[in-house]
Amino acid sequence: MAALLDRARELVATVTDPELPMLTLEDLGVLRDVSVDENGTVTVAITPTYSGCPAMATMRDDIVRTLKEAGLEATVRLTLSPAWTTDWISERGRTALAEHGISPPGRATPVAGPVALTLSPLRRAVHCPQCGSVDVEVTSEFGSTACKALYRCLTCLEPFDHVKEI
Ligand SMILES: [Zn+2]
Repeated sequence: MAALLDRARELVATVTDPELPMLTLEDLGVLRDVSVDENGTVTVAITPTYSGCPAMATMRDDIVRTLKEAGLEATVRLTLSPAWTTDWISERGRTALAEHGISPPGRATPVAGPVALTLSPLRRAVHCPQCGSVDVEVTSEFGSTACKALYRCLTCLEPFDHVKEI
């Protein structure tokens, strides 16, 4: 059973985020647990990222399909608590984003205690993934997907996506 578990873990580790294909589900920090029961059925626990993120259904299907192709029966369980935050994206994942010209998220605001409501635009520490300049502007709060904002670098003029902190 241990060999089967190792195999299942390896297979699940190859599944990538449909919206950020340079990130595996492990890099994204959504993979909570992989287990195998006495019948050899694999259970994969994942934590959803953004609520209502259309990628979640694809992730579930991809996990089940990947394991099925290897001859394993699998079910996917959602673990809702604690809630996922972009802080769970691994260092390797952040590097992969930057290498693909996507600005990785900064530290998410701690949610302990009351959260001040501000009406001013969100301030993020964003720098251009191309040239490293901090002279950047938001062009749209929604980029190619809802989880990304679109920025433009005022130094090299390249547009780029930034994964929003949550
Ligand atoms: Zn730049």
